[in-house]
Amino acid sequence: MFDKEAFTLFKFGKKLNQSFQNRRELLDCALPALRDLFKLDRVYFFDWQLDRALLSLKMMCKKEYCMDMQEDISVLNEPEFLKKLLQDGIADSTDLNYPAVYVLLKWKRPAMALDGEDVHNVIKESVGVLRLERFRKNRVFNEADKRMIKAVAEEISHNLTNTEVDQAKNQRLNIATALNDLATIFASSLRLSDGLELILQGVQKYFRFDRVRLYQTTYDGSKIKTILGVDISGEVTRQSGEDLPEDERTLLRDIFESGAAYRTIHNVVYIPLKVQRNKVGFLTFDNLLSRRRINYLDFVSLKQFSNQIALAIDNAVLFERVQELSNYDELTKLPVRRFFNEKFAEEIYRSKRFDLVMSVILLDIDLFKQINDTYGHQIGDWALKEVSRVIRTSLRQTDFPCRYGGDEMVIMLPRTNGEEAKIIAKRLKDRIGAIAIPDRYTDGERVTLSISQGISVFPQDGQTAAELFEKADKALYWVKDGRRGTFAVYREVADQLPQ
Ligand code: GH3
Ligand code: MG
Repeated sequence: MFDKEAFTLFKFGKKLNQSFQNRRELLDCALPALRDLFKLDRVYFFDWQLDRALLSLKMMCKKEYCMDMQEDISVLNEPEFLKKLLQDGIADSTDLNYPAVYVLLKWKRPAMALDGEDVHNVIKESVGVLRLERFRKNRVFNEADKRMIKAVAEEISHNLTNTEVDQAKNQRLNIATALNDLATIFASSLRLSDGLELILQGVQKYFRFDRVRLYQTTYDGSKIKTILGVDISGEVTRQSGEDLPEDERTLLRDIFESGAAYRTIHNVVYIPLKVQRNKVGFLTFDNLLSRRRINYLDFVSLKQFSNQIALAIDNAVLFERVQELSNYDELTKLPVRRFFNEKFAEEIYRSKRFDLVMSVILLDIDLFKQINDTYGHQIGDWALKEVSRVIRTSLRQTDFPCRYGGDEMVIMLPRTNGEEAKIIAKRLKDRIGAIAIPDRYTDGERVTLSISQGISVFPQDGQTAAELFEKADKALYWVKDGRRGTFAVYREVADQLPQ
């Protein structure tokens, strides 16, 4: 007899000796095997929430098929039954009018717990119950049956633990791979905004939240600058921080000031992004649309990843700022030559591509050395700043000025022909000509500035940046040769230039 039992058990164990993706897959295999082994008419699987004395029906197998089911059964008012089941691991049903037994399953489940900023691995114990039913009254479960059932339940419990461990490992591996991919994407994206969009799309795609948003603060962390959002469609939307309602603004400030690692408000999870004490922004996500529960493992992983996101954003912002600063000249606040050359090349390309004209003005302050020599370098600097201010405020949005070096400026005027460029040159000549050196330095004498300008026009004077510079420089040379304070278009003076 005993040998037969052992052999049956061995066969059952062999059947379950494989790797299951999840609990459902395992039960799909175990319940029909159980049904066949004990000649059952029906077998149910319940999750047991011990603390609430609630059996949650999850799955039922009949002769032909298994199906998922959802139903909660309270077992609070059956203390005797409960006591016996917990003590013996098996108990007869007290309310059905055909033979049925309940048998206990106990297994372990690896999980993660978040404690402030720290994430721990923890082991949780899960409890479930199988209900085995035979519809014919005379086919009761005898002691031998029950002994076997308990042994088989132990085997299933053991397999449940293995399955949960495998599942957790797989999930973690998937998440680790996903996060690694995201970090790689971020590291390789050139511009901050592109990087943020990619990160958001990646987070949405891997974690499958209905909506993920990133609130980015201004450089000093005092205000929300932009809000990037991505929903299940994967499309990124961009919103200005100005549009944020006052109550949400207050809420965000509260979360930051509380020092909390995260907060959930109306089922939206807010994770503050911080680098040391710097506020970088917020990452928020929710499943408001689908009403799916937020998977705890996903949340914990994203919480950990948020530190990397914060660091990446902080670095990128700093990099952009340094980049931006190095594009502008310290004294005049005009773009520097390198930055100008980039823009100039782009504009020439665009003009060629779309058959547009453009002009270049090369501008040089007249006898600037004398100003330095007479009034000192500080007044020279002041004059340079004044000239630059006038230039900056006298141009259209699309025009692009630059301090080319020393007292020489160059201005690119897209979609502007020679005639129009002359109008601008005239305006600059008048406005800069009105800049007077403060009279406390000049013994009351009125000393004003003067500039000379040479103009070249694309495409008539040149097809490349170098050619256009050369022609503008030749026109400027012509002006400087006895005509200071005026301007000339290369075309119009070309025949008077030395060959
Ligand atoms: P021209 O009419 O022929 O242009 O005469 P110029 O005296 O202006 O001659 P040039 O353009 O060759 O001289 C430029 C002078 O500008 C030389 C240099 O001392 C001065 N300079 C260049 N950069 C700065 C600066 O950043 N600050 C000051 N104060 N002076 C500068
Ligand atoms: Mg000069």
